[in-house]
Parts: sequence; C-alpha cells; structure tokens
Amino acid sequence: MAETGLEVTGLHVRYGPVRALRGVSLAVPPGGVVAVLGANGAGKTTLLRAISGTLRFHGGRVTAGTVSFQGRALTGAEPAAVVGRGVVQVPEGRRVFTRMTVAENLRAGAIGARGRTDAAAARERVFELFPILAERAHQRAGLLSGGEQQMLAIGRALMARPAVLLLDEPTLGLAPAMAARIAETIKEINAQGTSVLLVEQNAALALSLASHAYVLEVGEVTLSGPAAELASSDEVRRRYLGEV
Ligand code: ATP
Repeated sequence: MAETGLEVTGLHVRYGPVRALRGVSLAVPPGGVVAVLGANGAGKTTLLRAISGTLRFHGGRVTAGTVSFQGRALTGAEPAAVVGRGVVQVPEGRRVFTRMTVAENLRAGAIGARGRTDAAAARERVFELFPILAERAHQRAGLLSGGEQQMLAIGRALMARPAVLLLDEPTLGLAPAMAARIAETIKEINAQGTSVLLVEQNAALALSLASHAYVLEVGEVTLSGPAAELASSDEVRRRYLGEV
C-alpha cells in the first residue's frame, strides 16, 4: 500500500454559530509541499488549528469529517499527541516567548518531540538553517527582528523533528528580501524530508514553493490542482496574484 501522508476529509468546523469550514478535504503527500490560499477569514488558520488539535483553545470544534496521518486518525487528538505523531504547527504571528532567550525558546520546542530525541542534534540542524539564531542564542527573543522571530518560530517547531510542518502565513509583514529567505528555508526543510502544509496570503510565493495548492473561500475549497496549473488560472491570477 502506498504510504499516506496527512489527509483531511469532509471537515466541518464551527465556532459557536459561525461555520468556519464546510466540508474541506485535502491531502499532503509524504515529502510534499502543499499550499492553501485564501483571503482573510476564508478559514485557513481554522484548518491548521483543526489539524493541530488547538481548535478547542479558540472556542471551535470539529462537527464532522476526519483528519488522519499515516492512515491513523488525528481528529480530536490533544495538541501534544499531534506533536507526538510528528505534525507540528508554527502559529501565525510568530509567537515566540519574547522574554526567554533564543536557546530557551528552542529548548521549549523539544518538549513532546517524537521518540528518543537528540535535542542537541536538532538544535545543530536549526542553527545550520538559521545561523543568526546561533549568534543570538543567549539574547532575549523579544529583541529579534520580525524576520528573525519567524525563523525562531520555525526553528522551535523543528526541534520537535516534525514529519509535517504546518506553517501559518510565515511571510506576513516581512520585507520582500526576508520573505524570500524564509521561502528558501522552507525549500531546504522540505528537501531534508519534512512535508509542509503552507497557508499563505502571498499566493505568488506559496505557488512557487508548492507542488499542489488549494483555494479556500468562505470555508470551502473552490479550486485545487497542481500549483503550476493554479498559477496560470485566470481566476487565481486575477484574485490572488493581483493581475488583471
Ligand atoms: P486570516 O488570514 O485573517 O487569519 P483565515 O483564512 O485564517 O483568515 P480564520 O481565522 O480561520 O480565517 O477564520 C475563519 C472564520 O472563522 C472567520 O469568519 C472568522 O471570523 C471565524 N473565527 C476565527 N476564529 C474564531 C474564534 N476564535 N471565534 C469565533 N469565530 C472565529
């Protein structure tokens, strides 16, 4: 049987009376990079919360559908159990612990990692990807620039040695050069064997990284296909790539 990655099938999510997702299905194959595009409020963050098990902290719940990874259910799992299975979210807004040092932030990321963790080796790998974090290891995270905080947020997630990384708008608010560096790093992380589910408003960047993409509108997938096909679709170009 072919190895299965992350699969979301017919997912419905509500926040009280608000129906945030209405039957969303998508798949992230092992080793793949999959992008989810969509405007503000489309449900992108909700989708990641439903996968990572953090929905309950935001007053939401899955009312139908399933999430599974490697053929086993993840639906309703506790966030720590999801991390333990190798599915790790980098939250939106690069939420690092600003009063802790860079090194302490990374150490926090190793808690709950899969199997026998070699935290030192994981940290070396993070420092190779982001040398600036090694230079700033003993500085408070709050003193880092926005781009460096995003690097730290990704680095912290990598400490759990994810099989799948869930990235929520990693380039939001960053200058183009820094966004390009983050994009390069995502490529590198993927090349080292981690699958990526990338939620982005920057459609051009997301489509350049992904092999497959989905467009989410008001809680529903309205378009999906190979990223190159979506990038040349008139609708995507008009609505998400700012072309006329
Ligand atoms: P953004 O890019 O602004 O984060 P998004 O595509 O990630 O947008 P979500 O944040 O998932 O969208 O929001 C989807 C819908 O769910 C929106 O209608 C939003 O108002 C609603 N929503 C999100 N979080 C909550 C919450 N904690 N309580 C109630 N409604 C919420």
